[in-house]
Amino acid sequence: MKTYNIATVPGDGIGKEVVPAAQQVLEALAASSSTFGFEFERFDWGGDYYREHGVMMPEDGLNALRGKDAILFGSAGDPDIPDHITLWGLRLKICQGFDQYANVRPTRILPGIDGPLKRCGADDLNWVIVRENSEGEYSGVGGRVHQGHPIEAATDLSMMTRAGVERIMRFAFKLAQSRPRKLLTVITKSNAQRHAMVMWDEIAVQVSREFPDVTWDKELVDASTARMINSPASLDTIVATNLHADILSDLAAALAGSLGIAPTANIDPERRYPSMFEPIHGSAFDIMGKGLANPVGAFWSAALMLEHLGESEAAAQLMKAVESVTANPGLHTGDLGGTAKTADVTAAVCQFLAGAK
Ligand code: ATP
Ligand code: MG
Repeated sequence: MKTYNIATVPGDGIGKEVVPAAQQVLEALAASSSTFGFEFERFDWGGDYYREHGVMMPEDGLNALRGKDAILFGSAGDPDIPDHITLWGLRLKICQGFDQYANVRPTRILPGIDGPLKRCGADDLNWVIVRENSEGEYSGVGGRVHQGHPIEAATDLSMMTRAGVERIMRFAFKLAQSRPRKLLTVITKSNAQRHAMVMWDEIAVQVSREFPDVTWDKELVDASTARMINSPASLDTIVATNLHADILSDLAAALAGSLGIAPTANIDPERRYPSMFEPIHGSAFDIMGKGLANPVGAFWSAALMLEHLGESEAAAQLMKAVESVTANPGLHTGDLGGTAKTADVTAAVCQFLAGAK
């Protein structure tokens, strides 16, 4: 019997509600499995930790996570702490410390979810967006000069390295190759950004030669937003830079239904370090502590984690359970127009899993 060591980092706001819910459904899955189990360790880092210690996580926090098989993360964000502190002090610290350079966001329209694209008749949408997660527009290179003077200036440099672009491009082509349609769209803005994005395009051509069975095309990021709405079925796997994919994946989640159901995986494809799985929504302080949060994004993230651990069958079983609750309007939380509570959805998923034993 294999035991997976999982770190949970609930973080802030509703992260503290959806991560324990995800742990509960994982425990229900393990209870019906004779081949694997979990050992969870919880790390209470985030805004409350910051108020007490002046940092979002301890200096040696990464060492505590290093030996884990995976990390289940909630959300980092607190209305009383500036966003750049909560983001860089916790989530990005883990992503960068463990070189989780591939951010993977699948989007599907789950049964019973009535998103804008479905209302337009598109229900066969099945995308996975690969976001470069380590450099580009968010590399942190830049600075401010002459603060408070009329000539004040600031820069954020988008730094792309050949090695960084090659590895994300190779990851995306490989992922596209593993999917039934073997179809990849490389997002770019090389008409206006004339240096790094031109290199990005060149590397796409170069890497594509290693994957002759993958059909691929190039799309400008602005045009791709229209394409997501006008011809969603023309897209399958998508790869884009840190900033571009950040925006496109929120659009994708909203088009499919709700922020509350969308998952994401921060992957170290070389498996040198633990990868991290989290719902894409933030800390949502407006609903925190009331038991109203939709846990489906966290459940789907847990399914991505199982997939990464090699437990594909368990991942599929969990997604079946998730789809059984989304298909039932009586189990929709407020973000989906219903009145169900986090605990109702969690109990229903656990019950489904117990029944599947
Ligand atoms: P952050 O600053 O950490 O991004 P946020 O308060 O902006 O957090 P978002 O996740 O961006 O929160 O979500 C925006 C709004 O969508 C929330 O205020 C909340 O009302 C709703 N929402 C988000 N996630 C969920 C969820 N899982 N369940 C229910 N409602 C949600
Ligand atoms: Mg937000």
